[in-house]
Amino acid sequence: MSNKGSSEDIFKKIIAHAKEYGFIFQSSEIYDGLSAAYDYGQFGVELKNNIKEYWWRSMVQYNEEIVGLDSAIFMHPRTWKASGHLEAFNDPMIDNKDSKKRYRADDLIEDYLEKLQGKVRKEVDKAARRFKGSFDEQHFMETNPRVIRNQEKISSITQRLKQALENEQLDEVRNIIVEENICCPVSGSCNWTDARQFNLMFSTEFGATADGDNKVYLRPETAQGIFVNYLNVQKSGRMKLPFGIAQIGKAFRNEIVARQFIFRMREFEQMEMQYFVQPGTELEWLEYWKNQRIKWHQALGIGQEHYRIHEHDKLAHYANAAYDIEFKFPFGFKELEGIHSRTDFDLSAHQQHSGKKLQYYDPDKKESYVPYVVETSIGLDRMFLAILTASFKEEKLEDGSQRTVLKIPPMLAPYKLAVLPLTKKDGLPQKAKDIINNLKYRYMCHYEEKDSIGKRYRRHDAIGTPYCITIDHQTLDDHTVTIRERDTMEQVRVKTDEIEEVIKKRLTFH
Ligand code: ATP
Repeated sequence: MSNKGSSEDIFKKIIAHAKEYGFIFQSSEIYDGLSAAYDYGQFGVELKNNIKEYWWRSMVQYNEEIVGLDSAIFMHPRTWKASGHLEAFNDPMIDNKDSKKRYRADDLIEDYLEKLQGKVRKEVDKAARRFKGSFDEQHFMETNPRVIRNQEKISSITQRLKQALENEQLDEVRNIIVEENICCPVSGSCNWTDARQFNLMFSTEFGATADGDNKVYLRPETAQGIFVNYLNVQKSGRMKLPFGIAQIGKAFRNEIVARQFIFRMREFEQMEMQYFVQPGTELEWLEYWKNQRIKWHQALGIGQEHYRIHEHDKLAHYANAAYDIEFKFPFGFKELEGIHSRTDFDLSAHQQHSGKKLQYYDPDKKESYVPYVVETSIGLDRMFLAILTASFKEEKLEDGSQRTVLKIPPMLAPYKLAVLPLTKKDGLPQKAKDIINNLKYRYMCHYEEKDSIGKRYRRHDAIGTPYCITIDHQTLDDHTVTIRERDTMEQVRVKTDEIEEVIKKRLTFH
C-alpha cells in the first residue's frame, strides 16, 4: 500500500496527475507554455480556495485582534525604496560559459554543502550499522577523521558564504565556487562568468506618459500593503496592541531559476499576517506564532515527519530573528512558511520616507512609539504543493488491482461528496438530485451517472472526494443509501436524512 519508485519519478507522476485531473495546467499551454507560471483548473481552484479559507478563518475569524485587508498590487514606487527592495532584493547570479545556463550562485554553494552533509550522514549510518547497539554517535562524530574534515569544511564554507553575502562581496562568492571546484550540473565544466546581483522585482509603466517617471513595480510581497495601511487600520478599527493584519494576495518575483513546478514561480500567492507588538516583546511573540503556525499545519493530519523547523542564521535585511517551517517535498525538505521578527524596520522606514508618523499611542504607558512586527508568511501555492504531494498515493488493493488516490485532508478536498445513481433508470437519478439539492448549499457536491460505479469511485479517489453516496433500488424502498469512505473504502448503509450526521464531522473547519 505505498508509493513505489524514486522521488523524482513520483514527482513526475504527481505533476501529470495534476494536469490529467484538472488541478494545474501550464500557463498558455497552447503556445507551448510560459515557464514558471501556472493556471489552476476546476479542482485546483477549489482546493486553493479551501486552503485560503482554512488560513483566513484561523487568523481573522478565530482571533478577535486580527483583521483582514486587501491592498492593491501596485504601490507608490517610493514604497520599494523605503522597504529596501530596490537596493537589497537581489539574488547573486552566475552563468556557466559552456552550457550558458544561469544559476543562483548561493544555491550552487548550498547544494554543494548539502552534498557534504550527505557524506557525513553516510559515514554515520555505515558506522551505526557496523557497531549496532554499542554505537555512540557523538563520540564517532568527534573522532572520525573523515567526518571531522567534512564538518570543518562545511562550517568554514558556511561562514565564508554568510560573510560574502552580508558584505555583498560577489567575487568572494565566485571564489568559493571556483576553489571548491563546483561545476555546472549540465556541462560539467567549472567555466564561470563573474557573479552579479540581479533584482527580483518586475517593473512596468503606469499610465500613458512617456517621461520615464512612471515606473511602478509588481509587489514582490504582500506585506508592504499592510505596513502602509498600518495607521488606517489601527485608527479606523480602534485597534490596541498587540493586533494583527492579515492579507492574501498575488506577489511577483523574477526568479533567476524557477523550477520544481509550483514551488518557485514568478507569479504566486502569499498569505501573510503582520502582528504589531510592543518593542521588546517581539521575540516572545515570535515563539508564540511559530507554535501557532505549527499547530495549524499539524491539525491537517498530514503527519509530523513532514515538518521541520529551521532557525535562520542568514537573516533578511529587515529581520532580527527568523524561523522557517520546512516541508518534506519529493525533492527534499524546503521552506514552506517563514516566521520573521521584522523589528520596526518597515514602519520606521515608511515613516522616514513618507514624512508621515506611523506610531502607536500606548494608553497604558502614556507614550507613542513605532510598534515592532512579527510576521507569518506562507506561500499559498507551496501549501497547495505540500498537500498535493503528501496526499498522492498509489495503492495495491486486495483483489490485485491498483488505485491512485489523493488523500487530501477532507475539509480541504475540492468536492466533499459525489452522489451517484447506480443506473440512469427507474427514478434513481431523480432521487440522487433530491439528495444533492438538499446538501449542495453546505458542501461542494458532484453528480455523476456515466460509467460503472467502480469507475466512478476511482475517478473520485483520483480527485480526493472523501465520500461517495450511491443510490440504488433499495433506496426507493427504504430511503437508505450507501456511503463509501475514500481512505478505507468502507461502505455503510444509512438513512438519507442521516447522511449529514455521518459526513459532517470530517468536513467542517474547527
Ligand atoms: P525562498 O528562500 O524559497 O526563495 P524566501 O525566503 O525568499 O523563499 P519569503 O520572502 O520569506 O520567501 O516569502 C514567504 C513565502 O512565500 C515563502 O515561505 C514561500 O512559501 C513563498 N514564496 C516565496 N517565493 C516564492 C516563489 N517564487 N514561488 C512560490 N512561492 C514563493
